[in-house]
Amino acid sequence: MRNGHRVVVLGAGYAGLVAAKRLARRICPGGASVTLVDARPEFVERIRLHQVAAGQAVAALPLAEVLAGSGARVVVGRVTGVDLAARAVRVGDQEIGYDTLVYGLGSVTEVDGVPGVAEHAAVLSGPAEARRLAGRLSALADRGGVAAVCGGGPTGVELAAELAESYPGLAVRLLTRGEPGGWLSPRAARYLRRRLDRMGVAVTAGAEVSRVEPDAVALADGVRVPADLVLWTGGFTVPPLAREAGLAVNGRGRVLVDQTLRSVSHPEVHAIGDAAAVPGPWGAEIAYGCRSGGFTGPYVADAIATRLAGGVPRPFRFRYFHQCLSLGRRAGVIQFVDGADESPQWMILRGRIAAGYKEIVCRSSVWLFRHPGPYLPRVLVPPRPAKRP
Ligand SMILES: Cc1cc2nc3c(=O)[nH]c(=O)nc-3n(C[C@H](O)[C@H](O)[C@H](O)COP(=O)(O)OP(=O)(O)OC[C@H]3O[C@@H](n4cnc5c(N)ncnc54)[C@H](O)[C@@H]3O)c2cc1C
Repeated sequence: MRNGHRVVVLGAGYAGLVAAKRLARRICPGGASVTLVDARPEFVERIRLHQVAAGQAVAALPLAEVLAGSGARVVVGRVTGVDLAARAVRVGDQEIGYDTLVYGLGSVTEVDGVPGVAEHAAVLSGPAEARRLAGRLSALADRGGVAAVCGGGPTGVELAAELAESYPGLAVRLLTRGEPGGWLSPRAARYLRRRLDRMGVAVTAGAEVSRVEPDAVALADGVRVPADLVLWTGGFTVPPLAREAGLAVNGRGRVLVDQTLRSVSHPEVHAIGDAAAVPGPWGAEIAYGCRSGGFTGPYVADAIATRLAGGVPRPFRFRYFHQCLSLGRRAGVIQFVDGADESPQWMILRGRIAAGYKEIVCRSSVWLFRHPGPYLPRVLVPPRPAKRP
């Protein structure tokens, strides 16, 4: 282990937090240091933000508490730049030097693609915003107002269902380009649609949003859908920091990485989670999702520790086997997928059992922060012993 080696992890999301804790446990006793930087002092359970918007309490998880005793240091502050030549990160007015950088600044909701979204639509960007939304939605429900959720992907579907369940007085509309759940097997999509109908969500499929206005959503076919509040879930993008720093990125700004998740342009930098363009087993890059963070974070910790010990890490290997959707607190859909290409398989779970399954998945992501040791691929595929020089 190289004494004094400085690893800096940017972003304490699903990927960064587990990477920092696991890495600290492995390399700090040998004299290396791990610093985790995030703009917030607490871990944000992004996959529960729709629950927060629905007025539910989600427990806060302070970073200092999660990392206590691990050896990692936490710096709370916004990263404003990475100087790749000087190997330093700017956080407010301080510079933090590194020997190895782990870039895990995640993703944000894309708001620039459609006019009016940035000005007039609400997005689930963080707990404070979601809590403010809950206040607005509750007031709207009391006077029988209309909330229009734009986007029929997993986030839009989960949000619409959660709002319909939690605010019975609110009229919830879901505007979606395709059929909601169109990416699922026909059986799962049929269930999802039936459930949304039963919950009272008014679904408009085939809706191409052309503009968001203060009190309506304008569709490309000329229809204007009145709404007291518009919630935008039209897809994710990544912050421009990696591109601005000069890291090689793809067209969407995700960091291009090799098979061990090292930047192809700067091998001292690793990228994880949504920030990285990680090739999946089916060729296309891994989609945005906390599940990729839960695998790339622990993997990168092991890869860095292995290299510091003089070894050669195995290539990153990863397969999805399910996709989990909650439909309020009492129902859900679990779609099992083919790990080779993520295509939906015949097997699904529905209803309460699916809601319970998804809850276990959500809890297990947080459990991983407290117990960063177990990591399935590592258990299944033991790492190659480090080669001694
Ligand atoms: C409502 C909702 C529901 C979702 N449900 C699911 C789901 O069911 N399943 C699923 O797989 N995915 C889901 N997602 C997507 C999932 O949350 C993300 O893909 C996941 O959070 C990505 O993890 P990450 O670690 O890469 O980044 P993030 O979790 O986004 O973490 C990035 C961290 O970096 C910090 N950060 C960013 N920029 C800076 C900066 N400049 N300076 C300092 N810190 C910074 C942030 O504060 C954050 O803590 C959902 C998302 C939303 C919004």
